[in-house]
Formats: sequence, C-alpha cells, structure tokens
Amino acid sequence: MPRMLRGFLGAVLFAASPALAAAQVPTYDLILRNGRVVDGTGSPWYRADVAIRDGTIAQVAPSIEGSARREIDVADQVIAPGFVDVHSHADRGIFQVPTADNYVRQGVTTIIAGPDGSSALPLRPWFDSLEALPRTLNLGSMVGQGTIRSRVIGSVNRTATPAEMDRMRRLAEEAMRDGALGLSTGLFYVPGAFTPTEEVIELARVVGGLGGIHKSHMRNETADVVESVRETIRIGEEGGLPTQVTHHKVIGPGYWGATTQTLQVIDEARARGVDATLDQYPYTASSTSIHAALLPTWALEGGLQRAQERLADPAQRARIREESARIIELERGGGDPDKVVLANCAWDASLAGRTLGDVIELRNLEPSLYGAAEAAFWLTEQGGCQAVFHAISEEDVVRIMRHPAAMIASDGEVVVFGRARPHPRSYGTFARVLSAYVREQAILTLEEAVRKMSSFPAQRMGLTDRGLIRPGMVADIAVFDPARVRDTATFEQPHQYAEGFSLVIVNGEIVVEGDRVTDARPGRVLYGPARR
Ligand SMILES: [Zn+2]
Repeated sequence: MPRMLRGFLGAVLFAASPALAAAQVPTYDLILRNGRVVDGTGSPWYRADVAIRDGTIAQVAPSIEGSARREIDVADQVIAPGFVDVHSHADRGIFQVPTADNYVRQGVTTIIAGPDGSSALPLRPWFDSLEALPRTLNLGSMVGQGTIRSRVIGSVNRTATPAEMDRMRRLAEEAMRDGALGLSTGLFYVPGAFTPTEEVIELARVVGGLGGIHKSHMRNETADVVESVRETIRIGEEGGLPTQVTHHKVIGPGYWGATTQTLQVIDEARARGVDATLDQYPYTASSTSIHAALLPTWALEGGLQRAQERLADPAQRARIREESARIIELERGGGDPDKVVLANCAWDASLAGRTLGDVIELRNLEPSLYGAAEAAFWLTEQGGCQAVFHAISEEDVVRIMRHPAAMIASDGEVVVFGRARPHPRSYGTFARVLSAYVREQAILTLEEAVRKMSSFPAQRMGLTDRGLIRPGMVADIAVFDPARVRDTATFEQPHQYAEGFSLVIVNGEIVVEGDRVTDARPGRVLYGPARR
C-alpha cells in the first residue's frame, strides 16, 4: 500500500476508533531495536532501530516510533545486510536441502549458482523447478561456458566451426533471456581448457550486450597465473562487460607471492577503465576432483572414461605419470601427498578424510612422487574422488583480502549435514572472515568485511535493491554478535555450523533464530536483466 494512502486510511480509522486502530494496525511487520548498524557501504557503524514492512526496510532511525507485529531487542548486536555469495556450487544440493542450513546459519541470504563454466542448460526449466521449491534463501545463476561448449562441440580439443560458434552464441543469448546473471568460465577444466580466448570473447559480447558479467575460474592458478589474470581482463575489455577473477589464489609453493603481480595487473586494468574485480575464499586449501587437479588436461579430453582408457595404455600412463608427479610436486599436490585429503569418493565412503599418502600405503605403492601419481590414477580408475588440496599461502590470502576490489565468496555448496568430508568453506566462509580476519588478526575492519560480503557482491551481480541497510532496500539482514561470531567447521570436522548469528532475515521473514532454522521459506529466484 502506498504510504500516503496508508496514512489516509490510518487517519480515518483513527477518527473512527483510536484504540482499534492502534491495536489492530501495527505500523510495521518487524522492528529490530537497539542495534549497531553496519550498513554495507563500508561506513562506520551507528546505533539505530530497523523497521521492516512488506519485505522491505521501511525505516532506519535512532528510535523508531510505532508498533510492529513483532519487536526484537537485539541488544547492541550488529545489524548487517545479509551476505551475498557470488560463487556457489548449489546447483544440485539446493534440491536436496532447500533450507541450505550451512549457508543461512552464517548469515548468507543470496547465493549465485552456475560457477566455473558449469550450469544447468537450458536454464528456464531449472529455474522453473527452483520456483516450485520452497527455500530459505534467494538464488540466481550464471550460465556456464563449458556447458555450452560441451553441448555444441563435446569434450574435444579443437576450435569451433562458424556454425558451432553461431549455435553457442544462440545458447548464451537464450540463457540470458531465461534469466542468467552472466557467463561463468572454467578454463582450467575440460572442456573449457580447449577454448581459445577469442571464442570466450565472442560469448562475452552476447552476454555483455544483455547486461551480464563474466566470472572466471582461470586457465591457470600456478606458473601462468599472471598470464591468466591478463586473459580474464582481456575477456572483459574486448567482450565489453564487467569481468571477475573468481576464487583468486595462487596454488603451489613455487608460485606463492605471485599475488603481488596479479593484483598489480588488476590495478592497471582498472586504471585504464576495465571493470575488473575479484573474489576469494578465506582458506589456504582448494577443492576439486582428483583427476581435474592432478592429471594433465590432455589426459582428460573426452571425459573421465577416456582418461581411464588412457591410463590403461602403458605408454600413455607413463607420460601422464611424469606430468602428474610434477603437478603433485609443484602445484595442487603442495609437494607432499599428505596435503591432498580425500573429501568424497562416491564408490567408497570410508576413504573420506584419508590422504593421498594413506592411499600410497593402502595400495603398497612406492613412497615417492611417482607412487603418489599412481595413487591418484587408482582413485581415478575406481570412479574418481573429490579432494581438498592444501597448497595456498596465508600471505597471498591476506594480500588478496586487503585489495579494495576483492569480495568474499565461498566456492562452497549446499551440503547434506554429516555426509562425506567437504571443504569447510561451505559452512564457515563468511563467519571466518568476521572472526579470523576482522576480530583476531585485524586484516579488515568490520565495516569493510561486511561491504565485501554484502553491497559489493550485490552490486556486482546487478542486485541493486539488496546488500544495504537503508530504507527502500529488500530486507535481507544478518544480526550477529561481533565478539562471538565464528566459524567452527574445520578440515577435520567440517560439519559444524557457524556461531554468533542470532537472526537471519530473508525478504523480511526470519529464517534463522538462535540455533534454529525456522519454517519460513521466503527465498526468491533472482533473474538477470534480460529475462523475459
Ligand atoms: Zn572453481
């Protein structure tokens, strides 16, 4: 109801029966009283009440008059915008766990799926089934370049014909019309790895013309990481759209410190007018499949089954072993088989938590880099595994975090509580920034951390009505105690919820209260600007 009309009706009711009007027509749905508002802009906190009506922040003021259906004294806790996660592998998990407990319990109110070049396609039926699913949080999606390419060309290493290029452009346009927020690439993975930069730029032009952005899991995060940042920038520059290095990190001790250069390349690009940004998760370990991480790209052409066939050929196996031993020594292996920890092997649940070093012993393999490569091959031959790779330096994590164009994103997933041994980022990312990097190490101020987790990612995804505590914005809100907030999920015991969040509000409805996920399912599907 428009404010004036409401006021007019209120006056009429008031004239007829003051007591009735006051008792039956509360001004607001919810008032949070006595908060410290960290508004998402990066500005210092201030004391205020926050009133919500019809899913929207209606008023922010030192002492709000009027009543609400419910009033909560937050007793000097922080009232911040709900966190926006621009890199989530929620695509499948959200249908298993529509409450997304691991996310909402760390203050996340919006997640963006379809990362790393991989998404549902076509997107419309996926969005439709999501619309039919009552869920706690808001969800949008990118469209994956790798998915488009594999649909048109397959998982092969060759350039596209002009006709194939046309089909890929049409699929990208259709995905944007279905409501994608932009194009994700995973040029590290098969088949993204077979894509020339020029081909990505062609799709970027289509997506950019329809208001989308580009986000890249880069081709290389080791020896060629600086070159890969340049490529990501080139895609934005020539594709004519905002571009983002996603989960920025440098993998492998031999390459640590390269963030000094990568961030400089981003600064130079921004200085000349390229809209380039980055995101990261606050951990020194990454996570992906054993074969994607530890086998050379050429060995994966055609998919997992083709990789297994190549391993069955002794000459090819020997060639792959040389390269895998080098990858384990210098790249994702971190130089030590015990730095690779199995997260989930679908064919043997008991392997979760064991290291590549354990597999060497289990299989009686040679205790060497070659033995480690053979252990990785065995796992690949059995059907493959997800794993966690401890091969990132804390100095690089901190250097990236301090960069003003860096935001926080989890790279996590919607997890089934207790299943397997996933990377703790799914449970802890946003809480960990507030505890480890704000409170304990003072790398960021509280206000800057909240900006990197709310208004900045919301603005980046074009979600201009979210991410700020300000009248007129959608009421996505996280209330937490800054002295107590913390992540509890560890690599050894990841299935533990974040602590310190007393309230999480999505579209004006409370989805988390204390330790409890409520029955409310207010989450919306968020579409890109070209949806029709
Ligand atoms: Zn990725």
